[in-house]
This record gives sequence, C-alpha cells and structure tokens, in this order.
Amino acid sequence: MDTRAFKRSLHHSDRYNRRGFGRADEVAGSLEQAYQSDLIARIRENGYALEHGRLSVKLAEAFGFCWGVERAVAMAYETRRHYPTERIWITNEIIHNPSVNDHLREMDVLFIPVDGGVKDFSEVASGDVVILPAFGATVQEMQLLNERGCHIVDTTCPWVSKVWNTVEKHKKHAFTSIIHGKVKHEETLATSSFAGTYLVVLDLAEAQMVCDYILAGAEAEDPGTRAASRDAFMARFAKACSPGFDPDRDLMRLGVANQTTMLKSETEEIGRLFERTMLQRFGPTQLNEHFLAFNTICDATQERQDAMFSLVDEPLDLMVVIGGYNSSNTTHLQEIAVSRGIRSFHIDTPERIGPGNRIEHKPLGADLVVEEPFLPAGALRVGITSGASTPDRVVEDVIGRLIDLADA
Ligand code: SF4
Repeated sequence: MDTRAFKRSLHHSDRYNRRGFGRADEVAGSLEQAYQSDLIARIRENGYALEHGRLSVKLAEAFGFCWGVERAVAMAYETRRHYPTERIWITNEIIHNPSVNDHLREMDVLFIPVDGGVKDFSEVASGDVVILPAFGATVQEMQLLNERGCHIVDTTCPWVSKVWNTVEKHKKHAFTSIIHGKVKHEETLATSSFAGTYLVVLDLAEAQMVCDYILAGAEAEDPGTRAASRDAFMARFAKACSPGFDPDRDLMRLGVANQTTMLKSETEEIGRLFERTMLQRFGPTQLNEHFLAFNTICDATQERQDAMFSLVDEPLDLMVVIGGYNSSNTTHLQEIAVSRGIRSFHIDTPERIGPGNRIEHKPLGADLVVEEPFLPAGALRVGITSGASTPDRVVEDVIGRLIDLADA
C-alpha cells in the first residue's frame, strides 16, 4: 500500500482530526483536577526534594507526563466535549496508565474489544467517533475506520509520526528498516505497518546477531553452512520481520528507526553497530548506498532517562519507579536502577503499597511479587520517578503512602 498517499488523503478528510477541537479551556479544569498535584509542584520548587521525619524523598528532575501524553489525554477529553452524544471508541489504551484509562471509561469511552489477541471492530459503526492513542495505530486500522465512515481523532504523538516518516523514507529508497523495539508493542506494530521491508530487533544482542549474519555472508561461507545459518536466523526472527523477508537479499541496504520509548543509549549503540557493520562490509565509499543514519529519539524519553541516571548517582536506600507494567519507557527506568544495584520497586498504582509495611511490585521480566517488610527501620533515602504516562496525582499518592508507612 502507498501509505504516504493514504495518509495524505486521510488528512484531507473532514472526518479526520489531529489538532483537537479548540476546547482546551473547557477541559483544563477536569484535567487539572484528575492529574495535577500541588504537592508535586511544591516538591519541584524545593529542588525536587521532600523531607518528612525519617524519610528523605528525592524525585528525578524529569519524570511523569510528557507533552505527547498530555496532548493525547487533552484531545480525548476535548473529543468527549465535542461529541457529547456520539458513541466514542478508542483503539487501545490511550496511554499506558491504568488511572487515565479508567477516567476515559467513566466518560463512556469504549475500548475496542480484543479476542484471542485480535481486535474486534465489528461493533464499530458508521458515524461513530474513534480515537487513536498517543502511540498511534496501524495503517490497516486507519483504513478500516475510514472506510467504515467513522470520525477519526488521531492523538498520535508527532514524535511517533516522525518515526513513521523515517521508515517511509527507507521504503521509498529501497532500504530495509531495522526497528529497535518490542515486536508486540502497539507503537512498533504501527511503525512496521508503515514500513516496507523491516526487521525488529529487541536489543543490542539481537542487533549483534543480525550484524554477524551480514558479515558472515561477506566471508562466503560454504553453501551448506550458509543455509544452516539462514535457517537459524529465520527461526529467531520469523515473527519480527516483514512477510517474505530474505536475510540474504534484505540486509544489504539498511536504515535504523526505533520505538520512541526504548533506552536511548541502546538505540544509539545499535545505530553505531549497524553503521560500523555496513562500513566493514561495503567500505567507506559505498557506505551511503548501504546505510541511512537516523534521528528519531524522543526528547521526553531522553530527558527522563538522563534524569534517572543523575538520580541513581545519589546515595539512595531504595527506588520506587511508577508506571504501567506494559509501559516501555517505565520499564527502562527500572532497568537503570537495577543496573546500578539499587533496591528498586516498579509499581503501577499507589494501591500496591500497603496495607501494612508491604509492597506488591513487578521485578524486571518477572511476575508480581509481594515484599514484606518493605521499608526498613531508621533514616531512609527514597528516589522516585515515573514514566511518561503517569500523572503527578499518582506520584503524590505514592508519596502519601510512603509517608504513612514511615510514620507508622
Ligand atoms: S514519550 Fe515521546 S514519543 Fe512517546 S508520547 Fe511522549 S513525547 Fe511522544
């Protein structure tokens, strides 16, 4: 499909909106009440620090709602105002935060049901309003909703759109897009739907496997060995590439793109690894024919990760990282704490703390566990950060629970 042409025609449709409805003032009060926090504003003014009895709390200097998320949530509220009686759907969680999604449910916004991992659009009718979330939707979903005669309110973050433009550029110039992301994450699904030929790599280790394959081809392995390596490669990446992907044909010209919430340092390292590999394989004079540089790392993700690196340099007894369990950027913040050996707890809601001195949290890559006792005795230095989808109000409630426990 010519995704650029489709997007152009969609953007001209009078059933498509990606700029809001000019009702920001009407929804400002509800947004402030639901998501903002006076306590957090005071802590920010106080150098991101709070002292309370035996508790010293230090917040990261960038955390919580990014502007892309704020924009998407505000647009969803405006949509409800603008269409007070119409049926409103959303194709997915607007952002990865349970409290924000619950507020939308309370406003009678319906979530597209998912059956066996597949979205069921059968109930969506002509004239319904459908919101696309901050991390976007696949081009096939947009096409279906457009053909169904729905009003589409597109809250896709401009940073995500920028990545889509990048992979479309790769497609136009017959480059394969190497996407650093999580294969099943909605944003990566959307990005790959705009790409031509693509391969998703989760991390540096997977990127290294791809680069090893590229370089082994250059050394002209014997045909039997090459066929075995090819089979092994496809077994590993079968679910992470475009249909008909052929590693011997499709790894000759590469561009890199990313899921905007991946660990910035890793995305950059993956970019450099592919550049070095193509340089080694094809030589400096041919590099531009085989590798396209990129710049699609979102500022907000970068700021939050940089602030986390500064926070974990301070003396801390423990960390609390707040954000949805399916939130990629929150998980990366937790990874930073864990990599420094800090006792760190990833929670999605304040209710995970208590009753009593206990916490229910999600260690990296594992299921929820309960830890009791949670807070040790004596003076305590606690670092706190939150992912880009977490409202300040949630951070305030977490601090409130920590204070209650420390005072008990
Ligand atoms: S984290 Fe970045 S890309 Fe994602 S919504 Fe926020 S500003 Fe946009």
